[in-house]
Order: sequence, then structure tokens, then C-alpha cells
Amino acid sequence: MITKQQIIHWLELTSDKYENERGYLTELDKSIGDADHGNNMHRGFQKVKANLEGAADNDIKSILSMVAKTLISSIGGAAGPLYGTLFLKGAAGLKGSDELTDADLLKFWEEGIKGVQSRGRAEADDKTMIDTLLPALETLKQGISDKEDTSDILKNMAQSAKKGMEETTPLIAKKGRASYLGERSKGHQDPGATSSYFMINALADAVSNTTNK
Ligand code: ADP
Ligand code: MG
Repeated sequence: MITKQQIIHWLELTSDKYENERGYLTELDKSIGDADHGNNMHRGFQKVKANLEGAADNDIKSILSMVAKTLISSIGGAAGPLYGTLFLKGAAGLKGSDELTDADLLKFWEEGIKGVQSRGRAEADDKTMIDTLLPALETLKQGISDKEDTSDILKNMAQSAKKGMEETTPLIAKKGRASYLGERSKGHQDPGATSSYFMINALADAVSNTTNK
């Protein structure tokens, strides 16, 4: 189970991570894109962080819907609408509550990722954020069916996300701006796969920190 405070903490940690890694994400996007991914994620999540200040009385579904709207309206490029869709579709199936059960958590990621795929049409190994998100989702499903502890599941989910991210390096991009490079996209880690890993790792941190207190 995850509490509303942990969700808010997750979004704050994600925002801080994008602030710290803005230069790194931009460097990655410079190699196979247009060098704006760091700025895009930073800008979007700075707005999310600012909007969170008035959101403490809202339930989780409305907080996650706020994230969707904020990302869609403040990030240009491919990543804004895709991450916006992740949160929009992920939040859509949730009930208005101050807690997420493990089943809700699975629904959030499953529906969200389905939304990203139906919008962006990326499959596994196309060298996109999907290569981080799909293995993370598989680990989440497995952990829930094995009845593991939520914080352990999230730690394992972050490990799978990291592996998926790293495995984008040798791939040839099939979607997005990097696909214009064809073979020349090989040998570079995908920026969106990297920002997705940061997002999932922040969730693992947010939940483990509060549980250990
Ligand atoms: P842009 O490419 O418009 O400059 P960003 O640089 O912010 O946007 O985001 C680039 C990232 O978006 C890529 O690294 C990739 O992970 C992701 N991406 C691009 N197109 C798709 C797609 N069709 N499906 C999933 N992810 C995508
Ligand atoms: Mg870009």
C-alpha cells in the first residue's frame, strides 16, 4: 500500500532529480535528438512541484490527474504528451482515495503504459521510454503475484527499469526524433528511457524512506 504523502513525496523527489540531472538528460538528447529533454522534464516537473503546494487536501486520483494536465500543458516535444498520457490514463481507473493498494498501483502503471503505447506506437526495443517502462511493469506484476512487500517490489521494479534503460544503448531507434539517425543512433542511451528510470527510482525511494522512518 502507498499513502498520499508518499505519492506527494515521489513527485517532489522526481522533480528534484530532474533538476539535478537536467544537464545529463540534455547531454543524452544532444547525442541522438535536439538537446531539450533535460529542460523539458525539468520545466514540467517544476510546475508539478509548484502545483503540489495547493494539492495536499486532494485525493491521489486528482493529484495524479493534475500531474497529467501540467505535463501536457507545459512540456513541448514528444515527451510531454507521452508522460502526460501516462499519468492521465494511469489516474483514470483509480478511485478517489488517500491510499493506493498494490492492485491500484498495478492499474496505474498498466493503464498508463498502455496509454503511452497507444499514443506513441512504440514497442519493446524501439529505443524509447517504453524499454524502461515495460520491464518495470513486468517486475511489478510478478512482485504483486508473489505477495512481496510493496517497498521491496518497488526496489525490484527500479532495478528492472535501470536494466531496461541500459539496454537501450546498443539499439537502433525506431520511434521519435532519434529514429531519423538510423544506425547512428546505436551506442547512445535513450534520454526518455533514462527519465523514466529516474521517475520509477524516485517512487522506490519515496516509499522506502517513509516506511523506514
Ligand atoms: P523531442 O524528441 O520531441 O525533442 P524529448 O527530447 O523531450 O522530445 O523526448 C525524447 C524522448 O521521448 C525519447 O528519448 C524517447 O524515449 C521518447 N519518445 C519519442 N517518441 C516516442 C514514442 N513514439 N513512444 C515512446 N517514447 C517516445
Ligand atoms: Mg528532444
